[in-house]
Amino acid sequence: MDRNRTMKMVSSTVDFDRPGKQVGFFSLPLSVHDDAWGAVRVPLTVISNGSGPTVILEGGNHGDEYEGPIALGELIRELDPGRLSGRLIFIPAINLPAVVAARRTSPIDEINMNRSFPGDPFGTTTQQLAAYVNDVLFPIGDAFIDLHSGGSSLDIIPSAVIEPVSDPVKHARNLAAVTAFDAPIIVVIDNRGDPRTATASAAQAGLTVVGTEMAGAGAVSIEALSLCRRGVRNVLAHLQVLPPEMASPPTSEPRHYALSASAHVLAEDDGVFEALHRLGTEVHAGELAGRIHFLANPGRTPVELHYHADGILYSRRQPGRVRPGNCCLVVASPYSGSVA
Ligand code: CA
Repeated sequence: MDRNRTMKMVSSTVDFDRPGKQVGFFSLPLSVHDDAWGAVRVPLTVISNGSGPTVILEGGNHGDEYEGPIALGELIRELDPGRLSGRLIFIPAINLPAVVAARRTSPIDEINMNRSFPGDPFGTTTQQLAAYVNDVLFPIGDAFIDLHSGGSSLDIIPSAVIEPVSDPVKHARNLAAVTAFDAPIIVVIDNRGDPRTATASAAQAGLTVVGTEMAGAGAVSIEALSLCRRGVRNVLAHLQVLPPEMASPPTSEPRHYALSASAHVLAEDDGVFEALHRLGTEVHAGELAGRIHFLANPGRTPVELHYHADGILYSRRQPGRVRPGNCCLVVASPYSGSVA
């Protein structure tokens, strides 16, 4: 099957090869009960000038993560194309149905876009959107910046994220770009080995890849948004698409962490979770991490949960209510070795 064939169904108001700033949309047909020949209209902006790399900037892969989309919207409105050497392709609300619904997953098909790469051009709307990014955008890109936050269920220490790759040259290139973001911590995240993420697909396609996690809790964090605004410009200056004066001076040496296979503390019962530590606290494997309380049965002793890794508390679940398997806490472990 020709994967690109179906992408001819997509219409776009922007021309990737035209210089200047085009703030527009691409439209993916969606035929439903009350809209037979309708479409999902997804924001797409191209800003291009002179020669230089093409950088794809994604936000809204999850629809309840806001710092990235806000920072990208500001850049779209503020950036003078004359300051560029290269091309920026913005998809700040890529999973538009999820963004409109303020949900992690799309209300159309309930699919998590970041577990659906490389997408399916003949699949559901979310699978088709992933296929558009993978099949149409990645082949014309040199670098990919994917701006995530913790979303409704998690709060995460604002951080820059590295996608693990086995090639040491590509790793060094990614590490340099991620370091340029200038977050206080850098975390290697392999999403438990899942290759179906946007950053894993971009790395597979050979692009330089930068990820983030910017707070979360379904809110807009003042500190994380400020970091995200600076970080995106810093990376674009590092990639030499923006002039060096648009970068901020580096603040500090970032600390390096990785999420190990034992990073996650999962609920083991049905109840209300009480965490014992604030984000950033140093914790150790075997240490008491929190308790699950049984509010309808006060005579029952709470169940204790323990950490399984040494490191810092990197992320914490936001809703108190938990069921078995819910991710309550995530520990990031100090990292110094190879990511492969
Ligand atoms: Ca996310």
